[in-house]
Amino acid sequence: MNTICLYCQEFSPRLQYVVRYIFEDLLGLNIRLISDREDFATICDVPKITLCSSVPAQSAWLFVDEWISKPSSEIIPKSELEDKWDNADTPFPFNGEGMPLLNFDIFSATFFLLSRYEEYRMVERDKYGRVRAQELYMHKRGLLEKPIVNIWAAELREALQKVFPSIKITTPEFSIIPTIDIDHAFLVKHKSFLRRWGGIFKYPSTALQRLRTLVLGKEDVYFNLTKTASLHRSLNLKTKFFFLCGNYNNGIDNGDSYKFEEYQKLFSEWKDDKDIEVGVHFSVASQTASNLAALEKTNLENAAKTKIVSNRNHFLMLSIPRTYEALENFGITNDYTMGCADVVGFRAGCCTPFKFYNLRQERIMPITVFPLTCMDTTFFTYLKTNKNNAFAAMYSLREEVRNVGGVFIPLFHNETLADNKKMWQYYKNLIS
Ligand SMILES: [Zn+2]
Repeated sequence: MNTICLYCQEFSPRLQYVVRYIFEDLLGLNIRLISDREDFATICDVPKITLCSSVPAQSAWLFVDEWISKPSSEIIPKSELEDKWDNADTPFPFNGEGMPLLNFDIFSATFFLLSRYEEYRMVERDKYGRVRAQELYMHKRGLLEKPIVNIWAAELREALQKVFPSIKITTPEFSIIPTIDIDHAFLVKHKSFLRRWGGIFKYPSTALQRLRTLVLGKEDVYFNLTKTASLHRSLNLKTKFFFLCGNYNNGIDNGDSYKFEEYQKLFSEWKDDKDIEVGVHFSVASQTASNLAALEKTNLENAAKTKIVSNRNHFLMLSIPRTYEALENFGITNDYTMGCADVVGFRAGCCTPFKFYNLRQERIMPITVFPLTCMDTTFFTYLKTNKNNAFAAMYSLREEVRNVGGVFIPLFHNETLADNKKMWQYYKNLIS
């Protein structure tokens, strides 16, 4: 692997965190961090770059705004940050003398997005307590649908190649992680008489599917996990299933799939299956009641007879940094919640997993954030998009991710994929 040596008078924890993400995770380079000027001067076997706020003695350098190293107590007011970006094409623009490799501070800009810095201050929330995606900085700038952090890294790669033609930096390999949320175990099976038959009139679009199960005894269409996992396996993809385990009669947490014999049979079939992971889908109610979250995880672990380390919160409930602090306490190491429910886009500006940096505690947390690319219900429930347009938008997001060698993470529900041949074909195309 290629190595690059980076000099900075002081690598603050924030700078070090983001330097590692950009150079190691996004560019696939080995890095040596040096804070001693003399030592740096003596190195001659690898390409060298200086990180600083003004022109250094060395020729290759990257501009670093002092903003990134300010501790939390000095978090700047929103208006000041906007001044740094609003009148420029890029955030943290360089306006001084000299020629850095990039005309902006890629480190501060990336840190601003990964840390979800702006969300610490957001008081405007929707009725569930979620931040309003329309308020996100990238949404206001019309950039939410671009994995902008990965795009900046690609710009850096190009700049580095020009200055150091001897190093070969390749685009990371594109990959896909299909994820399925199971909010509802069955469409009609195990429901009360009234709900079984009343649903035919209440939801006429699913009347045929309901009748096929009720009258002809066909498999309930929501019970399609084996079929979905097989599709993924045929495409060499691993499946992540997230099971909602709350059942609190609050109208939104009615998840009880893990209790049914049919699902428990699946769990035992999957026990040693390396292609399928069972994750928890923490309920909305559990977000403010840690005893409920603990119970949900234990119930699922007991049913699936496996240790649960992955989560996605129901309704994409995500409160920064409280959610990650809670997940850490529950032993969750992989979280798939980072996304927007009611708008399309990359909430953290990137499509490559990253460790979460907690500004309140000033530390890197042991939680890997897997940024969501798109969710079925954003299109079909929130935006009321028809299938053609919804999948056209999802294909386009997938290509954005492919172009930068990111990880494409679509979120679908078992009910969306229920016996509807057109939907199934669209989905297959999306992940093929
Ligand atoms: Zn859900």
